[in-house]
Amino acid sequence: MSESRDVVIIGAGVIGCSVAFHLTRLGQRGVCVLEKENLPGSGSTAKANGGIRAQFTTEVNLKMSLLSMEILDRLGDEIGDPPVYRPTGYLFVTGDAGRVQAMASAVEFQRSRGVAVELLDADAVRARAPFVAGAVGGGTFGSRDGFLDPGGLTNFFLREAIRAGAEVRYHDEVVAIERDRGGNLRVDTGAGSVTAPVVVNAAGPYASRVAAMLGVDLPVAPVRRHLVITGPCPSLPPLIPMTIDADSGVLVRREGDRVLIAYSNPDEPPGFNTAFDPDFPARFADALESRFPAVAAAGLDLRRSWAGLYEVTPDHHAVLGTAPGQPGFLLANGFSGHGVMHAPAAGRAIAELITRGRSESVDISPLALERFARGEPLRETMVL
Ligand SMILES: Cc1cc2nc3c(=O)[nH]c(=O)nc-3n(C[C@H](O)[C@H](O)[C@H](O)COP(=O)(O)OP(=O)(O)OC[C@H]3O[C@@H](n4cnc5c(N)ncnc54)[C@H](O)[C@@H]3O)c2cc1C
Repeated sequence: MSESRDVVIIGAGVIGCSVAFHLTRLGQRGVCVLEKENLPGSGSTAKANGGIRAQFTTEVNLKMSLLSMEILDRLGDEIGDPPVYRPTGYLFVTGDAGRVQAMASAVEFQRSRGVAVELLDADAVRARAPFVAGAVGGGTFGSRDGFLDPGGLTNFFLREAIRAGAEVRYHDEVVAIERDRGGNLRVDTGAGSVTAPVVVNAAGPYASRVAAMLGVDLPVAPVRRHLVITGPCPSLPPLIPMTIDADSGVLVRREGDRVLIAYSNPDEPPGFNTAFDPDFPARFADALESRFPAVAAAGLDLRRSWAGLYEVTPDHHAVLGTAPGQPGFLLANGFSGHGVMHAPAAGRAIAELITRGRSESVDISPLALERFARGEPLRETMVL
């Protein structure tokens, strides 16, 4: 016999937990989260850098970020200390005159949509980040951007969802999904099965496998991403913005008395490998040395460094909404490096879709899976 619930969420990462939280806040009963591991947030969420920014160039990315920030501000008192959202700012720096022009257009677009962002000249960049070296033509600074604690946020969402009646089951891997004669979805795990009219795919890098269980072709690929930790770095201020060399893509931020370095490898093939590649730092060594020499001088501590999986779609935007031809099967996937920052908004949007029939807080129609079949992918230029 299959058990019955109202909503089954597959995956207890930051996305699944946000969906559970927002559902229960909207009064939804019978919420059940199924997680294959023995802990919440132990997938990509545990590996994230924790950046949150509204400096994007597509309307939908920008709106997802603004809604997330609004939700985080609203929940700030409830979350308490330590805060999970710290708006320490995002600073993009360039030495390229053409890129300064592109930044000026992006800033104009973002400001017209209510983003707190300013275009900086070279002096203003150096004033904000005296550790930046090399040619500087200008930059941008978003003051509400900053850091979001992935584990803290996930635990808060889940704790509150459970307090409001949601149930979470660990060691419960979903292995099949079938539609029964009544039109409900039966989700099979090694431990049994649960039937519900609504099932949310929040399986992170495994999302396309879960979608395939219902015959849905979901283009979400797992792609390894490294984060590298330096040795102690006393020459940098204790608090710095997320600072990105827009010319090379190297990002640095404080990690205690050390510095965390992020860099995207364009040649990384899709796959589930999360082993840290000791040869990886050679890819950004020159750019680090010329733009952030004080960070390079701190040396690297590879034992503290790690790699995890981005869940990447062809246009680097999430897929949010009902799967085509599968009523009741909802997708919250493919965040392409933005899943932590967009989790509050995505959870709210999916919860509204389930309880009210449409997402009222943010228009998620541009993120429908159908955009790929229509040949209308989105185009974001500020991808890290
Ligand atoms: C190195 C790195 C840096 C990043 N930096 C940032 C950043 O700065 N800012 C940002 O916003 N995002 C960042 N991201 C991306 C972010 O981590 C992800 O987008 C986000 O965590 C996705 O959350 P999720 O809940 O969808 O996935 P996950 O956290 O992976 O959760 C999915 C869950 O589903 C479970 N699951 C999978 N299959 C099944 C199944 N069949 N049955 C049951 N359970 C299942 C998994 O065990 C997992 O717990 C980064 C990612 C990496 C790897």
